This record gives sequence, C-alpha cells and structure tokens, in this order.
Amino acid sequence: MNINRRNFLKISLQVIAISSISRVSQAAITLTPSNADIIIIGAGISGIAAARSLKAKGYNVLILEARNRIGGRIWTDNSLGIPLDLGASWIHGITNNPIKQLADQFALKTLPVNYEARQIFDDNGTPLTARADTTLSNRYKAIYERVIAIQEQRIDDDLSDISWQTALTQELANENFSSTELKELYFSLNTELEHEYGADLSELSLFNFDEGSAFKGIDHIFSGGYGQLIDKLVIDGKLTSNILLNQVVKSIDYTQRKGVKVTTGKNVFSAIAVLVTLPLGVLKANTVRFTPPLPQTKQSAIKKLGFGTLNKTYFQFPDCFWKEDDHSELYNFISSAKGHWSEWLNMHHYNQQPVLLGFNAGKYGKDIESLSDKALISDGMQMLQKTYGKTIPDPKSYLITRWNADPYAKGAYSFIGVGATTKDYDELAKPVTNKLFFAGEATSSEYSATVHGAFLSGERAAKNIMSAVPLLKSVVKKSILK
Ligand SMILES: Cc1cc2nc3c(=O)[nH]c(=O)nc-3n(C[C@H](O)[C@H](O)[C@H](O)COP(=O)(O)OP(=O)(O)OC[C@H]3O[C@@H](n4cnc5c(N)ncnc54)[C@H](O)[C@@H]3O)c2cc1C
Repeated sequence: MNINRRNFLKISLQVIAISSISRVSQAAITLTPSNADIIIIGAGISGIAAARSLKAKGYNVLILEARNRIGGRIWTDNSLGIPLDLGASWIHGITNNPIKQLADQFALKTLPVNYEARQIFDDNGTPLTARADTTLSNRYKAIYERVIAIQEQRIDDDLSDISWQTALTQELANENFSSTELKELYFSLNTELEHEYGADLSELSLFNFDEGSAFKGIDHIFSGGYGQLIDKLVIDGKLTSNILLNQVVKSIDYTQRKGVKVTTGKNVFSAIAVLVTLPLGVLKANTVRFTPPLPQTKQSAIKKLGFGTLNKTYFQFPDCFWKEDDHSELYNFISSAKGHWSEWLNMHHYNQQPVLLGFNAGKYGKDIESLSDKALISDGMQMLQKTYGKTIPDPKSYLITRWNADPYAKGAYSFIGVGATTKDYDELAKPVTNKLFFAGEATSSEYSATVHGAFLSGERAAKNIMSAVPLLKSVVKKSILK
C-alpha cells in the first residue's frame, strides 16, 4: 500500500518523550541533587514503590532516572490529544490486586476488559463464524493439553527441559493437519502464548513457561492511562523532590569501605546502600558496570532468564470505519505469516475515539523495529485492508513503540527461557552484601512481567533495606564531575 507521507503526523518517540513530560516530571527536572541515605536506580513503578515505603519510614532517598520522564515501562502518551499507553495497559486480575486498590484509593477510573468479545478474521479478511471460532479454540486446547502431557512425562522421566516448540513439533508429527488448520493453530499459539510472554515458542521453557501466580478476577484498563498512577504515587509519596531525571547510571562501585558509589554521565553520588531496579534487558546488555562484578549466581540468572518483546502501534483514523457497535474489544487476524499483526485492540470501545491498536510480539515484534515508520504503518494497513477494503482511509497519525531498541529497557518484560526456573527470579532478587539491593518485575518469581509484580518487588526491597540499613543521618556526598 502506498501511504501518503504528508497525511501522517510524524512522531518520533524522542519527541513524544519530551512533549509528554508530566507535571511531576517537570518539577523533578528542575531539581539539583540532594543528600540521601539510599539511592534508587530507576523511576519505574518498582523504584517509586520502594522510595515511597522508605521515605514514609524516614529514610532520605534519591531516585536516579536515565530518561527525561518517570514511569519506565509505564508510559502514557498524550500527543494525539488522548491518553494512549505505550507500555503497560492492563491491571491483570483485579481481586486483591494492589494496583487496583491503588487505582481505587486515588479515584482513577478503570474499565473492565472482556477478552471473549472478539472477532477473528481469516487470511482473506472474512469473519470466522462462531462455530469456526469454537473449532479453532478446541483444536488449540487439545494440542496445548498434549504438549503439557509431554512436559509432565519428561519431568517424570527426569529428562532435561526443552522448548515449547520442540515439544509441539514432536506432537504435530502424529497429526495430519491441513495447511489451513496448521495456520489457525499457530495463530492461536501466537495470540495465547507468544503475546503473553513476548517470546517465540522456540524460546519458551516447556517445563516452567507458566510458573508463578496470578490475581483472580477480570482484567481492567485505565481509561485515562496507566501514567496517572505513577504521578499519583509520586505526589502522594511526596517524592517530587527525590527524583533526578536525565541521570544515566554508568557504574556502581560497592567496594567502598562505607557505602556505595554511583557514577552517572553527569555526577558521582554515594550512599549507604543502592537499590537497583534496572530492567533485565539492561542488565543483560551489561551497560552498567558493577565493581566488583555481580556474583556468578546472579550473572547466570541474568543470562538464563529471557527478556521478551511486545510492541504497540496506534493508528488514529479520521473516523471509525470498522463497526462501532459490534461490542468487539479485540480483533484477531489469522495471517499467513505467523504472528504478523494478529492482535488488535478496538480502542473505540474504551475511549470512543477512532483508534486501533496493533500488537506484535516475540521475533516478529523485534523484526519490525528495524522498519521505517512508513514501512511499518504500511505493513499494518495491509492487514486491515484485507478485512475492511482498500478504500479505508490512511491514519491521520500514529504512535510506534520500539521497546527492544530502547536503551533503558532493551525489551518489554521477562520470561522463563529454556533451562531457566523461577529460582532465577529469586536469585536476581537477592541482595549482594548489605549495600546492593534489587527490585523490578524480573525479581518477582510470583508475579514477573507485570506492573503488580514490579510494585510488590519495590515494597519487598524497601523492607529488606530497612532491616539491613539502620536509619542514620544522611551520609550521601555528591561531587560534580563536569
Ligand atoms: C509494551 C508493554 C506492555 C505491557 N503490558 C502490561 C500490562 O498490560 N499489564 C502489566 O501488568 N504489565 C505490563 N507490562 C509490563 C510492565 O510494564 C512492567 O513489568 C513494569 O512496568 C516494570 O516496572 P519496573 O519498575 O520493574 O521497570 P521499569 O519500569 O523499566 O523501570 C526501570 C527504570 O530504570 C531506568 N533505567 C534504565 N537504565 C538506566 C540507567 N542506566 N540509569 C538510570 N536509570 C535507568 C528506566 O528508564 C526505567 O525508568 C508491559 C510492558 C510493555 C513494555
């Protein structure tokens, strides 16, 4: 499809980042460093949760954040005139979920999500009948159960872990599926598993891919964006003056007799202890130097755990050319190439705006990051045109995420790769001496890859710090490097 470039409101994420700095972030930007007992690296929800707890108990905290905004992988963009989440969208399971409790406490509106309200389209753009949808779901469930049977047998036989794909291939050898049935099966596997874990089946551990817990209840979405929660947490926790933006941490030296030295691109800071909330992708990339190096057990956990990709593309159209009143929340497309633009959210259902959100996960999610904006939008439009016709309008604007290329995330969220277990999450969570503490979604063996997991990990780390670091007078010193 030939997209007329002038029809687009061109937006680069860099521009978005600057234009969408919240009231809270701008206040933080103007600050100069203050003394602190505890330095927290990263102003994502885990760092903010820890800072709130510590400050409430009288600790003097300082958050160093590389970006020019707070929130990390929670990022609500308002540049298209409406709040749209580029990172997390859903509260997964609202029953007893601390994120839902906080949303209620701060009177933030959330809306229920009904994943059953979906319409699947085949490769020609024809909607599947309810019967065909049921057949497809049943085939997926049957194969899923048989792969799980292989998992159980291998564990009983004391065999080693293999990938989900290897077990699936083994199982499919006994089948005689037509090419259409296979395409449909891979569509289900992509939308049910690869999107959830941000990883291809060939990367997922057969033994442990779904280990962990989940809160019960339906999912909710923030109608005004997830970023509101971050702002509320910062204001409520009186943390505005405790955050320094644009501070890219380069090294953490915990060889000091007393405390830890943290060097950013601009300053050197020292504190009694440091809480590291760097995303697993950043730890894997080794862009922050630890002196001495992290213990081998922690390094091994960092290596074994996977860090997946989920990318979002918002298409803002001049009007709603798809059915406004069919109550569908999800549109799914069975593409001939597995996982290409298979999942879409009908944003109109939640915000009454002519906006569709396309997802791409795992390998394809990573691959499309190298496309130009124009090529990427054209790729998504081709999928929509199959169903809605060549005459649908070009989007008047769009938003594209490239989480894998983002130097301060290097991916979307963690998953359990072949050979890894939940113990690797626990290993990542362990403090190193009583100076170096860890939080973040990839330190939560119970709720990894989620906002609530990250939030709870911050609270857990704060408790660890409180018992290891007695409340003393502030000892942080700062010297300006340049
Ligand atoms: C596209 C996408 C969709 C998602 N959807 C959902 C969802 O619907 N529901 C859900 O529960 N979860 C979802 N998640 C996962 C959720 O967003 C994360 O689990 C959670 O936000 C992670 O919080 P965190 O504090 O662990 O990490 P982060 O939010 O990544 O915070 C870490 C901080 O460290 C900073 N940093 C990195 N490097 C440096 C450095 N060198 N110096 C200083 N600071 C640095 C980063 O900028 C960042 O602000 C999604 C994630 C993505 C990417």
